[in-house]
Order: sequence, then C-alpha cells, then structure tokens
Amino acid sequence: MPDAPAYGFDTLQVHAGSRPDPATGARQTPIYQSTAFVFRDSDHAAALFNLQEVGFIYSRLTNPTVAVLQERIAALEGGAGAVCCSSGHAAQIMALFPLMGPGRNLIASTRLYGGTVTQFTQTIRRFGWSATFVDFDDLDALRAAIDDDTRAIFCESIANPGGYITDLDAVAAVADEAGLPLIVDNTSATPYLCRPIDHGATLVVHSTTKYLTGNGTVTGGAIVDSGRFDWSASGKFPSLSEPEPAYHGLKFHETFGALAFTFHGIAIGLRDLGMTMNPQGAHYTLMGIETLSLRMQRHVENAVKVASWLERDPRVAYVTYAGLPSSPYNARVPRICPKGAGALFTFSLKAGYDGCVKLIDSLELFSHVANLGDTRSLIIHSASTTHRQLTEAQQVAAGAAPDVVRLSIGIEDPDDLIADLDQALAKASA
Ligand SMILES: *Cc1c(COP(=O)(O)O)cnc(C)c1O
Repeated sequence: MPDAPAYGFDTLQVHAGSRPDPATGARQTPIYQSTAFVFRDSDHAAALFNLQEVGFIYSRLTNPTVAVLQERIAALEGGAGAVCCSSGHAAQIMALFPLMGPGRNLIASTRLYGGTVTQFTQTIRRFGWSATFVDFDDLDALRAAIDDDTRAIFCESIANPGGYITDLDAVAAVADEAGLPLIVDNTSATPYLCRPIDHGATLVVHSTTKYLTGNGTVTGGAIVDSGRFDWSASGKFPSLSEPEPAYHGLKFHETFGALAFTFHGIAIGLRDLGMTMNPQGAHYTLMGIETLSLRMQRHVENAVKVASWLERDPRVAYVTYAGLPSSPYNARVPRICPKGAGALFTFSLKAGYDGCVKLIDSLELFSHVANLGDTRSLIIHSASTTHRQLTEAQQVAAGAAPDVVRLSIGIEDPDDLIADLDQALAKASA
C-alpha cells in the first residue's frame, strides 16, 4: 500500500501491510507456507542474524503472510509495530515477558476474561511473577497497589463478560505518574470501537481468535506497541534498555527506538518462547479483518436491539450492557468506544439457575459454546461451565452469578435472535 497515513479505517482494514505479490502479481496476500527463506549470500545471512537488516530467516520468527497481518493490526490500532503469536494467552505472556522478572508484579483489573484471571493468579507464579487485582474504578486503590517491583498495569477496554467499560484515560494517567506501561486487552472492543493507544495505552494485546478473525476458525494473538514508552528512563526495563548478550550487546531501545518492543518480541520472544502464529492462521485472520468495521457495526446494532428487548421483558431480572442508558458505564461510551459498547453482555433470569439451564437447552439459533466474537450468536451459562469451580460468592463477584447468562451477539437477523430468545424464555420460565 502507498505510504499514506491519512487513509481511513475502512481502507486500512483492506489494504494496510499488503501489496501485490512481487513474484506473481497475486492480489490477495499469498499464504507463504514455507519454514525457511533462502539467503542471497553469506553476508546477507550474517546481516539478518545481527538484526542489521530486516528480512525473513525462519518462520518461528518471521513469515511474509504473518508480517502483513502484523502491519495491518498495527495500522488499525495506531501503533508503531505489532507481533503476532499463537493465541491471545500467548500474546499476554509475550507482552509481559520483556517487562517482568522474578519478584516483579503487575497490577490487574478485577474485571478480566476468566482464562486471564487463571493465568495471572496461578501460572505466572511459576516464573516468579505475581499479579495484584484491583477495582480500576477506584484510582486511589490502583495507586496504592503499585510498589517498587511493579512493572505493568493491565486491563481490558470493554471487559469480559461485558457490560463494563474501563476509563482508559484515567488509568493511563495513573500509569504515567508511576512511570509504568499500561497494557490494554482490546479483544472485546476491537480497534474499530476503541483505540486504547489514543487514550494513553503503551501496549495493546488481542485474542485475534475473536472479532478480528470473526468467523470462529483459528486461534491467534497480537501485541501492538504504541512506540511511545521510554524504556530507558527508569532502569526498570533492562531487557529493553541494557545490552543483550544474545545479540553481541545490542541495546534494543537505543538501536530500534519506537520499534524496540516489536523487535524484541520477534528477536527474543518468538525466537525463544516459540509461540508463533502459522501463515495459514494469519491468512484466515487477514480475510476476517477485511470486513471488521462492517461486522462490528452489525454486531453493535444487534446487541442494542436484543439488550433493549430483554430489558423490557418481565421474565428478565436485569441486563448489564454499557450500550443501554440504564448502565452505570453508559456515560463512558462516547469517549472510550464512540462507535458502540460492543456485543457482549449478560442478563439475569428470574427463573434462576434451573431457568438458565432450560433456556440454553431450548435455544435453536444461539450456540452453547465457550467462545465469543463469532458471526454466529453464542450463549454460555458461566456458573455451570467456565466459572463452575468458583464458590457462589466468587461467581457473583465475577459477574457470573447462578442466575446469569452471557450472550455474544452475532450478525444474524435481529428479529430471528429475539424470536429465538422469546421461545426459549417461555420454556425456561414455565
Ligand atoms: C479469548 C480471550 C483471551 C484469550 O485468547 P485465546 O486466543 O483464547 O488464547 C484473552 N482475553 C480476552 C478478552 C478474550 O476474550
């Protein structure tokens, strides 16, 4: 694509990062299904291995199809660069890896995807890292949780299971005061609805498994770097500011400037952790991203219609969707996600736990799956599935009380979705 930063979102989602294939003229980005790439000569090989020249060596680090996706996601998020990897959870580890070390901690929002809570409470402890969970609406508590060993602040823009929107500007100001990077998981919003870097985020992580791919075919992840953080200012981020022994003492921040995090993610993260996205997966995600804005508009329109209908229904106790005027987070929508509050939300059934189970088993269009962000409408009863191991008090705190179900609204005909919910609610409430 010609170098024209003025292009709008809908143009970038189709073109950013891609150009007709120089060898064949292929207009669609080819799937470069090759493990290795031939060096021009020995000097070329040495320059690539020294990071003096950018190019393709081996697909654990870089691949031309994956590179197009990286450039496209970086463009849509307004970042300096991006690294793709094998899943959203891999992206979280890859984002934290250069920042953390034994004894270091991160401060995380209490409102997170369930799998992220498990990753942060259990698994990262094996690396000697820890997480402190704080309500990010309480900025004093957030400030108080930061100590000398804190290396990152982590939250979601539109938080899973939906209905909550983080005040990113306020959280970024606290991170800034403390000289810490803010990492925002933008999976549920996508860059079409929210651009965290515009609100002060340092890094943006994605599960591309969800809306970016959009059709429930492949898992993938991405880390986007704003390129704005000064990794050398505090001495707290030696992986980026100090000499790297594996590259003859090269200093990533000094050498690559705004692209330091991106180069580190490829040259160290992918090289040594190996959580690589494959070119076939990148292809499916590129295909999905071409229609991201069109899908997100429809997802949001449908979510507003279905949530409004549910809120008026006497069989429903309450609906938590930030797109409804009744939501305490509705006022944040125009500033944080001006094109809509996403398509994920929960509602509570007056018929309780048994009613929820009956509802799910009676639905015909909605699929009962542990996924979100598909073109198809999805439902899950968290208390009997993903949050089954928690006590009832923990379920309530996580927004997954026994009488609550979560919807991920798809792009079908909204009247059909409402009709399906109507017939299932009748059975559930009988
Ligand atoms: C799904 C999801 C993840 C994890 O992504 P995977 O691709 O399943 O590893 C992380 N954060 C959020 C908000 C998600 O929805």
